[in-house]
Amino acid sequence: MKRRTFLSAAMATTALLPMLANAQTALPPAEPRDWSGATPLRYPDPDLIALDRSFQRYILFNTPIRRHHTGTLWAEGPAWNGVGRYLVWSDIPNNRQLRWIEDDGRVTEFRNPSGNSNGNTFDNQGRQISCEHGGRRVVRYEYDGSVTVIADSFEGKPLNSPNDAVVAPDGSVWFTDPPYGIRGNYEGSQAEAELPFAVYRVDPANGGISRVTDEIGAPNGLCFSPDYSQLYVADTGSGREIKVWDVDGSRLRNGRRHVQLTLPGTDSVTSADGIRCDVDGNIWAGARPGVQIIAPDGDTIGVIRLPEVCANVCFGGTRRNRLFMTASQSLYSVYVGVQGAGIA
Ligand code: MG
Repeated sequence: MKRRTFLSAAMATTALLPMLANAQTALPPAEPRDWSGATPLRYPDPDLIALDRSFQRYILFNTPIRRHHTGTLWAEGPAWNGVGRYLVWSDIPNNRQLRWIEDDGRVTEFRNPSGNSNGNTFDNQGRQISCEHGGRRVVRYEYDGSVTVIADSFEGKPLNSPNDAVVAPDGSVWFTDPPYGIRGNYEGSQAEAELPFAVYRVDPANGGISRVTDEIGAPNGLCFSPDYSQLYVADTGSGREIKVWDVDGSRLRNGRRHVQLTLPGTDSVTSADGIRCDVDGNIWAGARPGVQIIAPDGDTIGVIRLPEVCANVCFGGTRRNRLFMTASQSLYSVYVGVQGAGIA
């Protein structure tokens, strides 16, 4: 009898081991904090959380997560302008773009109307590129102030609602086209989707548009690996995963799951929205409960916990070591121990 009891206990302990391993990655409880910045907090910032020792190098001991602005309805599309030293981002439902200026930290309304813009970036010449829900198009703002439509249709049918864009070294613009901007009248105008949800590439030489993949539920954020040999795309549709493809010139090959995120410490699947790579190849993803940092092998090694749902991120600042986070009603940033890959 005693022996059986012992065996049962031993088996129970063994069965618990995976749960314990999982529990170790659970986040410590959030402490209340004053996000206005009026009450300084004790370093290190308790919401910069290492889930793996390898993330420690990216946490700066003496820097806080800061909230720069509150007042948007749904914030996305942060992009850093290195010449102007400002961060532009979109307030999609309010049909405007805002700008946080590094000089003195003020925020101004940069563009209104914005065509319900979502993702923004800058090309290799510093020109702003924006994905518009309202116009169902991708546009480029030129030096003389005019607007060039880069893409608004494919094979004679209107795009759904371009969501996010990145620029390759050859000047090609790669963008995602899910239906989120036409599902209602809040972030754009309600309409029926006429094209599959897909990723496109705009050729820099002739402006031609090619569909590089539609093997994805609903493509959302995207980014290249630091050497541009791979393209990561967040699927917020049926897949709920980050997929990766090998970039072969103007084509994509060998699409596969890179990672499916969970809320750390649980089995609850969560999606990434916007993603950006750092120079070490880690992906910084807008994903509950703020930002998840995913090592090249797919492990989530750290979390930046925010009090709001974070959609998109980008690296900025003169040294590209400041992570900007557009999170629902607010804009946040934090200096980190690594630089962003790419220019915007
Ligand atoms: Mg997005």
